[in-house]
Amino acid sequence: MHIQWFPGHMAKSLREIEANLPLADVVLYVLDARAPRACLNPVFNEMAAHKPVIYVLNKADLVTGASVSAWVGELSQGGRAAVAVTGTASGAAQKILPLIQKMAAEKRAKYQNKGIRISLRGIVIGVPNTGKSTLINTFCGKAKTVTGNRPGVTRGKQWVRVSEYFELLDTPGTLYPKLSDQAAARHLAYIGSIKDEVTDIPALSRDFLGELSALCPSALKDRYGVVYDGDPDTAFEEIARARGLLHKGGAPDTERAAAAVLDDFRKGRLGKIALETALG
Ligand code: GDP
Repeated sequence: MHIQWFPGHMAKSLREIEANLPLADVVLYVLDARAPRACLNPVFNEMAAHKPVIYVLNKADLVTGASVSAWVGELSQGGRAAVAVTGTASGAAQKILPLIQKMAAEKRAKYQNKGIRISLRGIVIGVPNTGKSTLINTFCGKAKTVTGNRPGVTRGKQWVRVSEYFELLDTPGTLYPKLSDQAAARHLAYIGSIKDEVTDIPALSRDFLGELSALCPSALKDRYGVVYDGDPDTAFEEIARARGLLHKGGAPDTERAAAAVLDDFRKGRLGKIALETALG
């Protein structure tokens, strides 16, 4: 299966992001802690090459503390900052704000010397479904943007005034024209950053089982009581029976089982599983 997804609205969004980047004092580059490397969009990397960047490793609740620390270490290099957060829990904004202030300190000091207190601007970028809208909401203290667990929900430009001295721009989750690294594309699909409709879910889930068995051999046993012997189709049959996912005649519905495995992973029900390891 070859994964590719770059609809016209993403090309438009990339242009919008490029146009707005010069206005921002700091870039909040949101990554999913389960697959931070796959979430690095080469077009963003190029556009933000000369901007102060804070990598926000979101969904930290879905991986282990050791994985989070290793990634924060890898990402906070070359003058960039990194912080791990759980956007759905309280306190995410409080963890990010000091880094924003630090990154923008020079600009702030310059104006403070003239007696002016400037308003800082942060732009939030990331591939779809990494939790950008959720994070913006934590800054605002109430739901101001529409969030949803499917890629492509966040649309259009929304500047949000967080305080008298701070504004955030939410941007639509955006991929890049060619997903030439298909291993990364699969990771993006597993974490829900690629629309399910453009993939083949059973095939994707088969690939996922292969990776899962290497990363966490006991995951299927723990969740479904199924021992994985290397054959995904047998595993889907057993999972379907274990979960009562049956066709009318009683045969196991392997397609629904395949979808259920991915859904369970996305919601953290297979345990704390990082798909990617920091170089460390
Ligand atoms: P966006 O497309 O990047 O704006 O992502 P959303 O903010 O819409 O979030 C996508 C999904 O991820 C939603 O279902 C959120 O509830 C969920 N989500 C966001 N942050 C976290 C987090 O820190 N942990 C977990 N487990 N889920 C999160």
